[in-house]
Amino acid sequence: MDNKSVLTLQQELNSAMVFTSVFDMLKIGIGPSSSHTLGPWRACEQFIQSLLEKQLLQHVSVVHIDLYGSLALTGQGHGTDIAIMLGLSGYDPETIPIHLVTEIPKKVQESGKLLLNQETDIQFSNSSILFNSNQTLKFHPNGMTLSAYDKSNTLLIEETYFSVGGGFVVKEGVASTSENSSDQEVPYMFSCGADLIELVQGAEVSLGSMLLDNEYSLREKWEVDDKLTQLITTMENCIYSGCHTSGILPGGLDVKRRAPELHQKLIHGKADYKDIEEWKTRLQTQSNSFDVVLNWISCFAIAVNEENAAYGRVVTAPTNGAAGVIPAVWMYLRYFKKREETIGLHNDFLLVASLIGSLFKEGATISAAMGGCQAEIGVSSSMAAGALTYCLGGTVAQVFMAAEIAMEHHLGLTCDPIGGLVQIPCIERNTMGAIKAIMAGNLAMVSDPKDAKVSLDAVIKTMWSTAKDMNSKYKETSLGGLATNFSVIVPEC
Ligand code: SF4
Repeated sequence: MDNKSVLTLQQELNSAMVFTSVFDMLKIGIGPSSSHTLGPWRACEQFIQSLLEKQLLQHVSVVHIDLYGSLALTGQGHGTDIAIMLGLSGYDPETIPIHLVTEIPKKVQESGKLLLNQETDIQFSNSSILFNSNQTLKFHPNGMTLSAYDKSNTLLIEETYFSVGGGFVVKEGVASTSENSSDQEVPYMFSCGADLIELVQGAEVSLGSMLLDNEYSLREKWEVDDKLTQLITTMENCIYSGCHTSGILPGGLDVKRRAPELHQKLIHGKADYKDIEEWKTRLQTQSNSFDVVLNWISCFAIAVNEENAAYGRVVTAPTNGAAGVIPAVWMYLRYFKKREETIGLHNDFLLVASLIGSLFKEGATISAAMGGCQAEIGVSSSMAAGALTYCLGGTVAQVFMAAEIAMEHHLGLTCDPIGGLVQIPCIERNTMGAIKAIMAGNLAMVSDPKDAKVSLDAVIKTMWSTAKDMNSKYKETSLGGLATNFSVIVPEC
């Protein structure tokens, strides 16, 4: 694997006929980054699994982690070190109690020890993680090698992982992740958007039913239904929490949380609800005027990404940096657009969003380290646009048209987070992604897709070729763009 180039291997990943489960595309996790937090966390979990399988865990005395490429350059700002400590400690990002996200790393740093998989004490200090900023592994810019040693400093096991975007990880020498269900047989298989349009037109069931059938073939029906509800509930809880939490975001940039103030203005200072359910009911009585709705959408998106930046619980959709777009568009749909018709709405919304995301994941990338911000905000906007259009009653061709429009106007978007933190421009950028998604959906609903000159497949291909041409300075390295110019105040002329 070492001598294969990044592009060759990405193309190998992109070639298969696939179905990616909604629960792989949209994952409950912890902020601030899917590729730099969730991915490394999952890599640590897999490393622990290898130690357990080889019955080596109790012999480990020290673990060293080498980070490469983008993980090394922006890992500290993106919480990679924290994710590693939590992953090696044996916690899962989906279920860890939120207070432990800060408490465990603090304890590790104070004691110089880490309880590996909550079983074995090992030495662990700041020098256990090496940030190799000048080295990039060939397969992918987000590489990490984990090495475990025993008391006599003998190497027990060494494994290399790549965080390929959206929390997906690839182990060196293994073709796909254990989390990814795309290699499993499902009733409806497709390899691109055109395939799918043909499939839906020839079928007697709706796109939503087809996608649900695929999920039911992978899990028990009750489990699918429960997990879909859990996803939407987590998104709504995250927004509620973000709207009601003030303060300064961690990381040293002194970014003040804006969602609570904006929210206070929108409810005119009248917090006459006692919980999230009453708050949601109140949302449905809000004015539908353009300015008010626009501000609510911004408020929802900002709330999620401030929670994300503060290591809160979010749904990776399809990444953490872009986690606010899909929930914001969902809130617009559910509480402003379709205030009455709700049965099955969240299932359709999530399944279609996931479908669009999976087409980008397989045909291009959802990793900012590979494709810049077009792969994060661009993809999330495209996913939300397609989902919204479907739930508004659009045809499959209109769904794909909306998804295409949303991506078309994100092509070339760079990733240049200031200080390596997922805060500026990331938090605000989610508002732009959400608004563009709604615009794209509305435009598709009043258009005839037969008149469209660019297909969704063509824009995915274009996004991928743009990603390949993009200078690495603009791919989550914080070596260019806003990340290098933020302190320069340009005088007005
Ligand atoms: S600039 Fe975009 S891609 Fe980069 S970290 Fe921020 S949201 Fe993610």
